[in-house]
Order: sequence, then structure tokens, then C-alpha cells
Amino acid sequence: MKTVYLNTLSGGNFEVLCQDIFLQYYKVPVENMPLVNDKGRDLIIHSPDGDIFVECKHHPHNPIGRPVVQKLHSAMITENVSKGIIVTTGYFSKDAVNHVNINNLPIDLIDRDRLKEIAYGVGYSLLLSESDDKSGSMQYIPPESGEIFKDHLSSFISRTLLSYPNSISSELAIEEKKSVLVPFYKVEYDVNATFSTSVGLIHTEKCSDTLYLRQQDLSLCDSSFSQCFPASSFKSYDPVADMTCVDQSGPAPTMNELTKTAYEYIINKHTRSVSYDGRNNQSYTKTCAPSKKDILIKDVTHVYIPYSDIEFLLHDRKRKMSLAENHTSSFFVLNENFLNCEICNSKISSGMLCNDCGAVVHVSKKKSHGLKCSFCDKTVCISCSQYFKKYLFFKKPVCSACAIENKLKTKRYKIS
Ligand SMILES: [Zn+2]
Ligand SMILES: [Zn+2]
Ligand SMILES: [Zn+2]
Repeated sequence: MKTVYLNTLSGGNFEVLCQDIFLQYYKVPVENMPLVNDKGRDLIIHSPDGDIFVECKHHPHNPIGRPVVQKLHSAMITENVSKGIIVTTGYFSKDAVNHVNINNLPIDLIDRDRLKEIAYGVGYSLLLSESDDKSGSMQYIPPESGEIFKDHLSSFISRTLLSYPNSISSELAIEEKKSVLVPFYKVEYDVNATFSTSVGLIHTEKCSDTLYLRQQDLSLCDSSFSQCFPASSFKSYDPVADMTCVDQSGPAPTMNELTKTAYEYIINKHTRSVSYDGRNNQSYTKTCAPSKKDILIKDVTHVYIPYSDIEFLLHDRKRKMSLAENHTSSFFVLNENFLNCEICNSKISSGMLCNDCGAVVHVSKKKSHGLKCSFCDKTVCISCSQYFKKYLFFKKPVCSACAIENKLKTKRYKIS
């Protein structure tokens, strides 16, 4: 498989590339017309059913409009040619597509996606660019700041910690936020593989997916990471002015290393162990691993994801957390140690913020280190709460303020 970066090609290079692709695809001579005065066709495919005129348009970011279709069509009429092809590294305008369809023109419109497919079939992997989608720009997620970020963080914490009467957002104050843009490769690919044995087809693996490789070491990010960053998360921006906020650790890999690693991960991810019954009714297991030719790497994009270290106050107590931002409250968590119970140190899946002392504690059916006051519903840690007995054996939790106010005879919990 030969990898070609479309953005490195001149218009002339692109014609030569198309010439080779059509030569291998049609297996007939393909003539490249002189660049000057090409009379509205760049290539002629000398097919046994008659010549095919080909117009090549290397415009990755612009649509091909109706005039290009009309020009090729009139060249076809003049030369009495009955089939035409327009191939572009970009896409076609609606107007151009409608013009072909309404007039039933014998012209095939091949956009970048279809060109990639055809090229792939004859041994070319076409990628738009080695790094960015638009040359000179960077694709990244800008770090958030201010109230928007605070809202996302507070929604995130609220999903784990109950806090009453003060809400998490009223108890949260962000003190410091430091972000670096960490470079990744976003690899978009298709897998289309079928597996057969003597009993016939036993497995089909067909999907489109995205994976992320960290630039630093080409390590694969797990699928929960990919889910946090759908392809649409990234936008093109002018390069950030202050490159000190871009993580520069490690040299960029070569495209060969990158695609080689990507293929390995993809093959590994889509390898299945399939059980089937043989003709003799015996059960067999076959490892179905897609091969490179079953995989189409559609695009590799260099993207940057903001990794942020946050210092914040929660009920006036200093906390820290690290996360990879995605402009939602379901960001990718890198470090959330503050969500460990302060009393038993267990990881909190459900917990409370003590509205008396600011402790973060766990709550569970079996044993909780956080309680709700029976009188005022305040969430309090077990150190800040007391209990009184009702009907001799029911222990009822109560906060210190309510214990005094109601003149209760209370005892402190034994903390274990
Ligand atoms: Zn605990
Ligand atoms: Zn407390
Ligand atoms: Zn109370």
C-alpha cells in the first residue's frame, strides 16, 4: 500500500496519480494530455468500449461547480465521446450533481471519498495531509474558562457528591487552571472483512471507527477516551500564538510508523474468536483477524486535546483534579483522587460533601461515612454527626446544630 498525501500534490502531480489509478483500475492505456490547452480533459482512458474523458480537479477545500461539468460535456460532444469522469480531491456542489442527474449526463462524479475507495482497491492509501486538515492550521479543542468551565466541573462533581443545603456549584470556587494542548493522532478507518471455512461464511466484521494514538509514544487510547472525543469535537484554528502551552514531549513519528502502529491496533481490536459447527457436528473455534487489505484508513488527523490541572475550593477546602477537556461535564478524567472517602480512603462512586466541615465521604448501603440529618436534611460526615435513639433501638442521625436546637440526648458515632 502506497500512502499519498493529497495536500503535497500539485495539479499536475494529481493528474499523474489519477492516470496511474485509472490505468490499474480499467487495465487499459490512459493518456495524460499536455497541461497547456487540454481542451477540457486531462486524461483519456482508451477503453475498448470507447474513449472516456477525465477531468482532474485538485481542490481539497472547494466544491466543483456546474461550469466544470458543462465544459467537460461540451468537450465530449465536440469529440464525439460518450463517457466522462470528473474526479476531485474535494467534493461537488449540489448544482453540479443536479445538473448531471436532471440531464442524465453520462458523466461520473468521483469525489474524495469515492476516489479514496477506488485508489485503495489498486494499492493507494490517499490521505488529505500528514498533519492538519487545513495546512497551517491546528485542529484542537480550546480549553474552557470562567463560568462555563465551572458549570461543567460542578455538574461532574454533583453526579457523585450529594450536598445539602448548599449545592456543589455554590460551594465550588476555581482557584487555578493550567492547560496544555497534548498532541494526538485521530485515525478514522473502515473494516470490512469476511471469514469463511469449509462450512461457509462464519463471521463478518464491518464497521467504521475512530482511534486515538498519543503522539509521544503512539500508545493507544482506550475506547472510553475515544468516546469522549467524537470527530466533531475538533475545529481548525490558527496555530496558538503561545506554543509553550503545547506539549512538545517526544519527536513526531513518521507517517510509516504511525500507519504501521494503527494497523496493528485495528487488527488487534477487530480480531474475534468465532465458534462454529463443522460438517461432522464438531465444534470448532477460529481466530478471525482482519488483514491489512480489509482495513481502509480513511484519514489521519493531528489533533490537540487540552489536559488541564485544576485547583479549586469545595466548602473552603483545597482540592485538585486533572482532566482532558471536551466542553461537556462528561470529560475524560485523568486524576480524581479528591473523590476518595476521607475516612476510609475508598474510591467514591456515591458520596456526600459534609456541609459542616467540607469533608468528602462515601455513602453505601452497607456502611456510610456520610449521613443526612433527620431534622434538617443537611449532608454531614460521620465525624460531624451524632445520633439519638428512637424507640430504644433506632439510631437517628442528627447534625450538631439540630442536636442543640432540639436539646437531644445524643451520642457520637464510633468511626470504623
Ligand atoms: Zn468511607
Ligand atoms: Zn464533617
Ligand atoms: Zn440538622
